[in-house]
Amino acid sequence: MLNRVVIVGGGIAGSALAIALARRDVPVTLIEREKRWTPASSGIFIYCNGLMALDQLGVLDEICDSGWVSPDGGNLYLSEDGSVITRTVYPRGSARVPAIVGMRRVELHRVLATCLERLGVEVRLGVTVTAIDDADPHRPVALTLSDGTTLAADVLIGADGIRSQIRTHLFGEIEPVYTGFGVWRSTHAKPASIDTKIMMMGTGTRLGIMPTSRDELYMFGTTREPGKPFYSRETWAAEMRRKFGAFAGPAVAFLAEIDDTKNVFYTSVEEVHLPLPWSRGRVLLIGDAAHSSSPFMGQGGAMALEDAIILAEMLDGVSDIPATLSRFSERRFARCKFVQDASRRVGEAGAAEDGSGRDIRHARMRETAQQDVDRFYQRIAEPA
Ligand SMILES: Cc1cc2nc3c(=O)[nH]c(=O)nc-3n(C[C@H](O)[C@H](O)[C@H](O)COP(=O)(O)OP(=O)(O)OC[C@H]3O[C@@H](n4cnc5c(N)ncnc54)[C@H](O)[C@@H]3O)c2cc1C
Repeated sequence: MLNRVVIVGGGIAGSALAIALARRDVPVTLIEREKRWTPASSGIFIYCNGLMALDQLGVLDEICDSGWVSPDGGNLYLSEDGSVITRTVYPRGSARVPAIVGMRRVELHRVLATCLERLGVEVRLGVTVTAIDDADPHRPVALTLSDGTTLAADVLIGADGIRSQIRTHLFGEIEPVYTGFGVWRSTHAKPASIDTKIMMMGTGTRLGIMPTSRDELYMFGTTREPGKPFYSRETWAAEMRRKFGAFAGPAVAFLAEIDDTKNVFYTSVEEVHLPLPWSRGRVLLIGDAAHSSSPFMGQGGAMALEDAIILAEMLDGVSDIPATLSRFSERRFARCKFVQDASRRVGEAGAAEDGSGRDIRHARMRETAQQDVDRFYQRIAEPA
């Protein structure tokens, strides 16, 4: 029987784990360094496996009500000029669980935070860890927090994202690996005519359009950014308009609207390649802290949600904590690496630079895009 699990990081992984543990009556404390649940970002799409996990957490209905549920799991591929390349369909999770939900990130966090509150989980916002004593794996981990309080944790979870403090504590500085890509995002009012996920394939660039609610959508564009250039926030809107200026079709109206820097985000895409083990003694890393992926398959959040469900199940009635944490990372490693590798390949394939490469890519997409989706989701349908 666990006296207390302490989770550092109240993002997708940490909040989901806190909910999953609370539902199993495991006492849990969630520590989040931000004072409010307002992630500075635009939208997220969640595919069937992530939605299955949200269903297990008991929040699927609220997620669907707060976001945009794809009516048929469809993804329309357009060329840069707006002409149709092909259309693919993503699988549903089940009769109850849809294929894709798009939503604003703040809404996802609102749903998770509301559930934490309903379950009476102890959440400490605006707090971080200043000291960790985990020298003796036979004793609870002793934590000192930035508000001066102390906590004893039977298990300490680092769900603190790509630049994880807990990972540094365990394994020293491990720099995320830069992929050479940048992602640009903007938010817009959704016209009624757009009711599907759209991916536009350019020359070295891709631009997606995804509804996030009945009346909102977000655009997300990928560019090659060799050398990891720095773009100051004031330049993001102009850069996004310029970099995707060649896109026609449905993108034109949205690109013309980009003039409000508050609604534009730029992110350099990085991955975390952490070899096994992801744990030491009673301390374990989950989510992006352990296996951050590039976003081209839209699976990072789903992997974090799966981590939460599986870990809560493995911790229920646990006797040997260090061995269980180690088994968890062994169980998850291959699947998370599969997603990382597949996602990187999609990013590379989508970034064909020259015109002839692009034509070959489009011809190949017509033949194999649906098979690629089916193959990927057959693997995802295997036990997590
Ligand atoms: C551009 C982009 C687009 C993406 N699109 C999608 C998508 O469409 N679908 C999808 O499934 N995934 C997507 N992802 C991936 C997804 O965002 C991540 O995989 C997911 O957020 C990981 O969740 P996490 O909880 O592990 O980490 P995070 O979401 O990073 O949460 C970590 C939390 O820990 C907190 N924290 C950090 N350090 C400390 C500390 N020392 N003390 C206390 N708290 C701390 C942070 O404030 C944060 O709240 C995308 C990623 C990027 C970069």
